[in-house]
Amino acid sequence: KRRNPHQPEFIQAVQEVAEDICEYIADKEDYHRQQILRRIAEPDRIVSFRVCWEDDAGNIRVQRGWRVQNNNAIGPYKGGLRFHPSVNESVLKFLAFEQTFKNALTGLPMGGAKGGSNFNPKGKSVREIMRFCQSFMTELYRHIGADVDVPAGDIGVGAREIGFMFGQYKRITNQFTGVLTGKGLEWGGSLIRTEATGYGAVYFLANMLATRGQDLAGKTAVISGAGNVATHAAEKIVQLGGKVLTLSDSGGFIHDPDGITQDKIDWVKTHKTHRRGRIADYVDEFPRATFHAGQTPWAVPCDVALPCATQNELSGEDARTLVANGCQAVSEGANMPTDLDGVRVFRAARLLYAPGKAANAGGVAVSGLEMSQNSERRSWKEEDLQQMLKDIMAGIHRSCVRYGDQGGGHVDYVKGANVAGFRKVADAMLAFGVV
Ligand code: NDP
Repeated sequence: KRRNPHQPEFIQAVQEVAEDICEYIADKEDYHRQQILRRIAEPDRIVSFRVCWEDDAGNIRVQRGWRVQNNNAIGPYKGGLRFHPSVNESVLKFLAFEQTFKNALTGLPMGGAKGGSNFNPKGKSVREIMRFCQSFMTELYRHIGADVDVPAGDIGVGAREIGFMFGQYKRITNQFTGVLTGKGLEWGGSLIRTEATGYGAVYFLANMLATRGQDLAGKTAVISGAGNVATHAAEKIVQLGGKVLTLSDSGGFIHDPDGITQDKIDWVKTHKTHRRGRIADYVDEFPRATFHAGQTPWAVPCDVALPCATQNELSGEDARTLVANGCQAVSEGANMPTDLDGVRVFRAARLLYAPGKAANAGGVAVSGLEMSQNSERRSWKEEDLQQMLKDIMAGIHRSCVRYGDQGGGHVDYVKGANVAGFRKVADAMLAFGVV
């Protein structure tokens, strides 16, 4: 805490990992002597820069941009870019730290990074967003590269923003390389990248339920968020026979007792992504649903819950409510959506609880596959990629079981994910000596 004052999110993420890792390395002399955990928790590099752009009214605006390159022991830095007013160094350091473990869990050769800006895309015209993205990339391009650091999307950064940034990178460097993932299919993107995080979180959930001889058919699901991860998680739940009751955004949540079916999910996707609308408008379109302003959906009784919006959106109180209402499993589509108190509640209740670094790794896994396709200069078939995503999620699940098995049929997925991710990165760092 003394080393990182005013960085509560970063301290929270490190604390959660350290609790498991300290126990695991208690009898492992090398990891201690080499200060491995300390070294992983100190980013390799943080670049912070000014992003200056002109709005439609001719005003000059100044934002701050960052890239946090946390660790490249097992591959080039990899992790998303977030554009949201809440972005600061603490948030990006926590995300880059988590990303290091997540990427290791996928089994693919990727290090951990994260970046972004406190730019707020809400209410901005397309031309303003383009100018911002171009200005952002005009500085970022010096620090990234297909074999150096490969950013992707995250909150506020979707295919459109990736397009603007890729266009600017290409223009400055005169190179067409796989420097960003989440690209459009016509210019180096991969099939199923868009769906991968949400689908992956549901595959992970299905793997957890299977350990108790259950599946998603007939189960009710409460989901937060209405963006990329939330809508695709909802889609996969519906495909597997579940019933989705809620979605949300920063304005509140909607509860649809009839279930949010595929055609309703399609409406939400168009409304949020293309019309940049609010989830509150859902009730005008589907009047049996209700909107709950300023609230999160965790008090709606359900069998499974998927927090897919943002960090610390599910408190200890929310966790207690979910457990009391009989929720059996939680799969985190978002990064660190459950606060430390909530994590303790889920772990103590022995719920099937998958932390984001395991459950939402499907997105970066398919980004890793996009990098491979770019290197080979070819595109793989959709059914092959779907199978690879399923296999990778099953592989992550196996790793969590291996290191998180508590006996008596209970798996601590938090511990499993932390230890499995740590081991891979730590062993590579040991091989490199003191660097
Ligand atoms: P989007 O920008 O597509 O959607 C984000 C959603 O979360 C929106 O509904 C947004 O509401 C809501 N939200 C954002 N910030 C807040 C807030 N402070 N309070 C309440 N609601 C909020 O982002 P993604 O779906 O891509 O990302 C969601 C989460 O998943 C993030 O934690 C991200 O890091 C994580 N993730 C994403 C991956 C990906 O592939 N995209 C990969 C792995 C993890 P509103 O529209 O009102 O802002």
